[in-house]
Amino acid sequence: MNTNLSRRTFFGMAAAATAAAAMPILTEPQLARAQRARIARDLPPGAVRIDANENPLGPCSGACAVMSSLLPEGGRYDDQLTQKLVDAFTAMEGLKPDYLRVYAGSSEPLHYTTLAFTSKERSLVVADPSYEAPLYAAKFSGANIVKVPLAKDYSHDVRAMIAADPNAGVFYICNPNNPTGTITSREDIEYALANKPKGSILLVDEAYIHFSDATPSIDLVKADKDLIVLRTFSKIYGMAGLRCGFAIGRPDLLAKIQVYGMNMMPILAVAAATSSLQVPELVPERRKINTDIRNDTFAWLAANHYKFIPSQTNCFMVDTGRPGKEVIAAMAEKNVYIGRVWPVWPTYVRITVGTRSEMDKFQQAWKEVMTAPASAGRRWKPDPTLADLGSRDLPPGMARGRFSA
Ligand code: PLP
Repeated sequence: MNTNLSRRTFFGMAAAATAAAAMPILTEPQLARAQRARIARDLPPGAVRIDANENPLGPCSGACAVMSSLLPEGGRYDDQLTQKLVDAFTAMEGLKPDYLRVYAGSSEPLHYTTLAFTSKERSLVVADPSYEAPLYAAKFSGANIVKVPLAKDYSHDVRAMIAADPNAGVFYICNPNNPTGTITSREDIEYALANKPKGSILLVDEAYIHFSDATPSIDLVKADKDLIVLRTFSKIYGMAGLRCGFAIGRPDLLAKIQVYGMNMMPILAVAAATSSLQVPELVPERRKINTDIRNDTFAWLAANHYKFIPSQTNCFMVDTGRPGKEVIAAMAEKNVYIGRVWPVWPTYVRITVGTRSEMDKFQQAWKEVMTAPASAGRRWKPDPTLADLGSRDLPPGMARGRFSA
C-alpha cells in the first residue's frame, strides 16, 4: 500500500466502504450485463449487442498484429511499453509526461478522482441524465450527490451546476454526454472553471470525444487549471476488452488519485494503444463510419415519426412513449439487446450505434415492438423459478424475473 495514504484516510475509507458495501462501483459493462441478466443468463447466438456503447469494429489491424507478436512476452512485466505509450501521447498533445497517468481503462481514474475529491463535506455535482459510475463511487466517499437536469439543448447546464452547491468537491462533466451523445461548449467549461467553488475540480470525461465536434479540454490542463480529463481506448479505438485509458491533469491533482493504486498495465493493451495512436487516419475513418450509420438511423427514425435526441456519438436516446423497460424486454425477445433507461427519463432508452447490419435488425425489431399495442398490464415481476440461473451476474438487490405477456 502507498505510504502516502494516512491511517486516518484509510480507516475513514474503510468505514465508508463498509456502509456502502452492499453496492460495488458499477460501470458501463456491469450495468449493461445487469440489465441483460434480468432477461437471460447468456446472450443467445446472433444477439444484436447495442446496449453497452461498445465499438463493433474492435482494435485496428495494426494493433491486432502488434498484440499477436507480443503474446509470447506475456510472462514479463514490461514498464517500457507503458512508457512508450506515455511518450507517444504526450508528444502528440504537447503535454509534459508527468501530466499523464495510464490506467487499465478510464473507469479507475474516474472512481479514484471521485473518491479523492468528494467526501461527506464535499459533494459530487452531476448532470441528469449522465454516466452513473461517479454516483456509485460517491457512495463510498459518503458525498452528497447533486443532480442537475440537462439544459434544453441537452448540454450540461453548467451555470446551474456551479450554483448548485458551494461545497462541491467534483463537478462531473461528461463531454460528450453518455447517454445523450450531446456536447457541452468550451465556453461553458471555461465558465465552470472560472466560477467553481475554491478547492473543487472539474472531472471532464472525454470517453466519446473522438466521435464528436466537442472541443477537447487538454489545453486547459496544460494551462494548469483545476481539472482532470479522462480519455479511453475503449470507444473509438475499439479496445474496451483490452483496457487502456488516461487521466490527464496537473501533477498535484494526479498525486491525489494515485494513492488509490497504480497497477501494472497489461502489455497487450499498451502496445495496441500505442500502435493505434500511430495510425492518423484511424479516428477520422471510424468517426465517419459511426456518423454515417447513426445519421441513417436518425433519418429512418424521423421518417417513421419516432422521437430521438440528436447525438454526436455512438449512442443516442429514443423516446418510446411507454415505460422504456418494457421496450427493452420486448426487443430482447427479438434478440436485439438495447441500452438502459435513466430514472429521470423513464420512457427513453439508450441505443448504441452498431454495424449497418445490426442497425437494420434494430430497425426491424423496433418497428415490430413499437407497432404492437403498448400493453397496459405488461409488468416485470421477480420469478423464483429462474433462480437456478444463479446470481453471479446480478448486482445486489436485483432479482431475475419475467415481463408478463
Ligand atoms: N466514461 C464514460 C462516459 C463511459 O461511458 C465509460 C464506459 O462506457 C467509461 C467512462 C469507462 O470506460 P473504460 O473504463 O472502458 O475506459
